[in-house]
This record gives sequence, structure tokens and C-alpha cells, in this order.
Amino acid sequence: NKQILLNNYVNGFPKESDMLLNDSATINLNLPQGSNAVLVKNLYLSCDPYMRIRMTKTEGSYFEPLTPGSVGTRLYNVFIDPVSLSLRVSGKRVPISGFGVAKVLDSWHSNFKNGDLVSGVTGWEEYSIISAPEALIKIEHTDVPLSYYTGILGMPGMTAYAGFYEICAPKEGEYVFVSAAAGAVGQLVGQFAKLSGCYVVGSAGTKEKVDLLKNKCGFDEAFNYKEELDLNATLKRYFPDGIDIYFENVGGKMLEAVLPNMRLNGRISACGMISQYNLEQEDGVRNLFLMVTKSLRMQGFIVGDFYHLYPKYMEMIIPLIKQGKICYIEDIAEGLESAPAALVGLFYGRNVGKQVVVVARE
Ligand code: NDP
Repeated sequence: NKQILLNNYVNGFPKESDMLLNDSATINLNLPQGSNAVLVKNLYLSCDPYMRIRMTKTEGSYFEPLTPGSVGTRLYNVFIDPVSLSLRVSGKRVPISGFGVAKVLDSWHSNFKNGDLVSGVTGWEEYSIISAPEALIKIEHTDVPLSYYTGILGMPGMTAYAGFYEICAPKEGEYVFVSAAAGAVGQLVGQFAKLSGCYVVGSAGTKEKVDLLKNKCGFDEAFNYKEELDLNATLKRYFPDGIDIYFENVGGKMLEAVLPNMRLNGRISACGMISQYNLEQEDGVRNLFLMVTKSLRMQGFIVGDFYHLYPKYMEMIIPLIKQGKICYIEDIAEGLESAPAALVGLFYGRNVGKQVVVVARE
């Protein structure tokens, strides 16, 4: 059972060498009596920015930090990290955990049977024993690519949905700005904004991404933030009448430039701040007093608190996918061995669309 382990806690930008491949692990199928576990074969793994936060040992973080050579026992709120330490550790090193898609090979749980396809938190390894499978979602729609359950039909999709509709309450004709717009979450937020009749502009870090946003994802405009010397002026150019809704994925200088461009009563969905995750100390953000004078509302959220809306989201998104009314871009890395580089790539903007790792296709 090949696995990817966390080698060291990470300082600054993550490196491939912070993780390592263990190709001599074995899996222990002697489960304790009364176990409700399932044995799964991992198919697709998701690379997500929050995983970097778990690679630092920070007291009081809302994410349980990973332990080098181990997995945490809890992922935020509703996501019980199911790769149980008690079943797996006993002197052995256990892998990094994260969202993925897997196939059930054996089940000690009455709700799961061999052959079921599931999505949820699993291990970065070929096979995992999931000791609390209640947290897994059974995949019902198999006529869409299974990898979509790491993105548009999984956690990032729910993030875009909850963060845009629930936090921003968009209205037709409003002006929407999305940062990290060509990523897993951003590409969907922009399209939800178009479906709501809004005007939407996205920022991304390469020309290729900007072209995709405009030509494939239907954004009204997009720009490469790395080529703009004065982001405040850039935003004025794209939003001469100001921004009603900012979907915040990056933080730092971008937030500082957005604030003077917000309209009265504007809303900011604080989804993430990826530009800050590798810093020892957060950037100071100026212009915060504009929150007062423009009567702005900025609200953070954790997607785990919105999973009660998952069935409603599926009802909306599945037909859109099937009717070809939504564009969804994935960046597929082949093989478990490619996972460390794929994860590191998020922090250099190497991924174009949702970063997925294929462990096996069936
Ligand atoms: P992406 O697929 O967007 O990948 C990350 C992208 O961020 C990179 O491709 C890169 O694109 C951009 N980026 C990296 N470093 C920087 C930087 N220093 N400044 C500006 N942009 C940068 O990731 P996701 O869509 O999965 O996540 C987007 C955001 O949503 C993240 O902040 C994440 O933490 C957050 N999130 C929050 C959740 C919640 O519950 N609140 C749940 C899921 C995600 P580029 O080429 O544009 O630089």
C-alpha cells in the first residue's frame, strides 16, 4: 500500500521534500470487534489550499494539524477525519489525509457494500480503512466524471455555492469580483454570478487562465494580477461604478485594493486568503476603515457548516453539468507519486482549474 506521508512541519512555502512516498506500508485488516469500518480503494485525491495550514503546528488553529508521519483525528467541524489512528498507528506511519473519491472493497458497516463509490476524507494512499464511514457521502450520480466529486460536486463546489449564494445574497445586475478565479472555487463562483445575472470580473496569475475565464467560463472580463502595477487602478478600470460583491480567495494586497472600490453596502465573502498561508506573519491590510464609511459587510465562513445544503446544491448543479451549462476545468496529475508536487503547485499557481490526483481510475 503506497502512501504519502508528511515528512516535516512546513515553514514558508511547502516543498515536495516536506512529503515522502512510503511504498512498503501494509494494511491491517484485523479490525477490532464491533468495527464499523470500510476498506476502500482510493481513486481520486483532491489537493486543497487548507492542507498547507494543517502542515504547520499552530496552537488553536481550527484545523487539526497533521503530525509528521501521522494523520490528525479531526478536520474542521463536521468532517471527522476517518482514517483512524487507533486502527492504523500501532507503530506504523500513516498518511496525509484529504478529500477524495474511493471505491468500497469491503465493508463492516451496514450502510456500505462492496462496489459502492464514496466521496469524503480519505488517506493519501492506495487503500484506506475508514473507521467512521458515516462521514462519507455515497455517490449516486455516476454518469458524470467521478473526479468531479473532488471539486464541482465536492467540497470546493459547496464552498462556491455557500460562499456566493448564502454569504453574498447576489442580486441581478450587481458587480462581482472574484480573485483566484481560475481555481477550483473561483471558476464556479464566477459562473454562479453569471447565472444570477451579475457582471463578473476575475483575476488570475497567467494569460492562459485569463483567456479561459473569458472564453470558456463566461466571465465578462478577467485580468492577470501579476502584470498590474497598481491593483486599485486596475479595479477602477474594470469597475468604474464599483464592486457590490467581492469573493475573497487571496487576501493581502488584493483585499487592500478592493476596499476602496467597494460600493456602499457591498458584501465580501471571506472564503480564503491563500497569499497569507505561507507567511510567518500575516500582511497588514490597509483601508479597513472603509468598511465603516461604506457600510460594508465582510463575512468569513467554513464550508463544513453548510453541508446541510448539499442535496439542494446537487439538485441545482447536476442538471447544469448534464446540460453543458457550466464549464468545469480540472488539472489532472497522474499517480499517487505526483501528489506532493501537485499540492505544492497550488501555492505557485501551477494548477489550471481544480487540482486532482488520479490514484486509480477504477
Ligand atoms: P485554487 O484551485 O484556486 O488554487 C489556488 C490558486 O491560488 C493558485 O492556482 C493560484 O492561482 C492562486 N494563488 C496562489 N498563491 C497566491 C498568491 N500569493 N496570491 C494570489 N493568488 C495566489 O484553490 P481553491 O479554489 O481550492 O481555493 C481557493 C480559496 O478558497 C483558498 O483561499 C482556499 O483556502 C479557500 N477555501 C475556503 C474554504 C472555506 O471553507 N472557507 C473551502 C475551500 C477553499 P493564480 O494563478 O491566480 O495565482
